[in-house]
Amino acid sequence: MSEGAAKKEDKPRKFQAIRGTRDLLPPETALWNRVEQTAHEVFATFGFGEIRLPIVEEVELFARAVGQETDIVNKEMCTFPNPMRFSEFYRRLRESVSKGTNEMGTLTDLLPESEMISLRPEATAGVCRAYVEHNMQQLPQPVKLYTMGPMFRWERPQKGRYRQFYQIDAEVLGGTDAPAIDAEVIEMVMTLFERLGLEGVQLHINSIGDRNCRPKYVELLRAELQKVKDKLGADSQRRIETNPLRVLDSKLESEQKIIENLPRIGDHLCQDCATHYAAVKHELGLRGVKYQENWRLVRGLDYYMRTTFEITAKGLGSQNAVCGGGRYDGLVELLGGPPTKGIGFAIGEDRLILSLLETAHSPLATRHSPLLYIAWMGEKAYTTAIRAAKNLRNAGFRVELPPVEQKFGKALGQADKLGARFALILGDNEVSSGEWTLKTLADGKQEKLGESDLVEHLKKQL
Ligand code: ATP
Ligand code: MG
Repeated sequence: MSEGAAKKEDKPRKFQAIRGTRDLLPPETALWNRVEQTAHEVFATFGFGEIRLPIVEEVELFARAVGQETDIVNKEMCTFPNPMRFSEFYRRLRESVSKGTNEMGTLTDLLPESEMISLRPEATAGVCRAYVEHNMQQLPQPVKLYTMGPMFRWERPQKGRYRQFYQIDAEVLGGTDAPAIDAEVIEMVMTLFERLGLEGVQLHINSIGDRNCRPKYVELLRAELQKVKDKLGADSQRRIETNPLRVLDSKLESEQKIIENLPRIGDHLCQDCATHYAAVKHELGLRGVKYQENWRLVRGLDYYMRTTFEITAKGLGSQNAVCGGGRYDGLVELLGGPPTKGIGFAIGEDRLILSLLETAHSPLATRHSPLLYIAWMGEKAYTTAIRAAKNLRNAGFRVELPPVEQKFGKALGQADKLGARFALILGDNEVSSGEWTLKTLADGKQEKLGESDLVEHLKKQL
């Protein structure tokens, strides 16, 4: 082996973020903070309180709440044995392999269900679990909660689709299923988007019926799909049996004409569902919220019912849904709680930010450059500079205090590069005379100021 190659091997390898995960960097993170801060503010005005949830839960919670047969649980979830039980897990795994059964069975044959945990793929399940765990049905109803943070789905990464992504999620639990609640939840997310200046926002709504009317519609749909089975793609053919509603979701070009001719759920709602849906639309109208009806908007799970909605925005290509939501009156009961009404939504924060960036919201506009750079030279000046920095920061100004002494020319160059607006020049002369020099970097204008005038002077300039 040549010496060069040996040296190369000695060098520690570099690391990269795991595929599908990414770092969020400044200045873009300033935009993330603005979005989250605005959500805190808007949701508070609607009476929502923040809940913070663990990132891991029992796999069984998601299997039940999201649905064993969904892509999320079936293909995308990140599940592993409780780390405290790893050694036992591997011992049983080795045993089952050495028995030569070849049949590995499911993960839960190797550890009890409750010892298998998953990274959360969404937040609704955790919120409902917490509602039951903390007996929130004893609080005044409904309970309005929101939460934000990372979610995990191991799907194929692409623009607007990551394995670790972020959601802002809100849920209303308990009380009645009055249509005004559906409308107000939608109004809340639309208010947030408007406040953020999100462009090309379109709200799509639908009603998917309830336990009463949906099963009959699904059977009708299945029968109609059987008739055209040969013309459908493999995915849709499979879904005729497993989840016919999902066929309506298909984006496959060749299936579009066929789908347009299928029976529509709107024509098969029971009286209660039809009345509820009409009232939701009326309530949206009262709130001045514009919507488009989309009969193909579905949720494939049993406890999802009646109102479903999705919001799309500009600049996102085919991953253009920034928010999905709907009513799920059966879910809390399914998780061992009392019968409880529920409705909520999840905003895809990554896509929301992407859309904001694609339109007017350059992160440079919120760039975190210092307002003021302190160019100091000499030991006395340094002590003064530290004091000045402390006072200015306490007054809320962004200040850069260089950690080592530099010649003034170099310091001013640095201040320029960082995009500072002002440089405070502190040398021996300034310190002994008490007259400080404030330089405006854009035009080179210099002013003499006393220490006590500085904060007031800067406030006036802004
Ligand atoms: P899609 O059809 O795009 O896969 P979904 O139906 O799986 O969406 P929901 O479970 O309704 O999405 O989640 C709500 C929102 O979360 C979506 O509208 C989207 O903005 C966002 N989202 C979902 N999955 C991802 C992901 N892998 N990366 C980034 N954002 C995502
Ligand atoms: Mg998905």
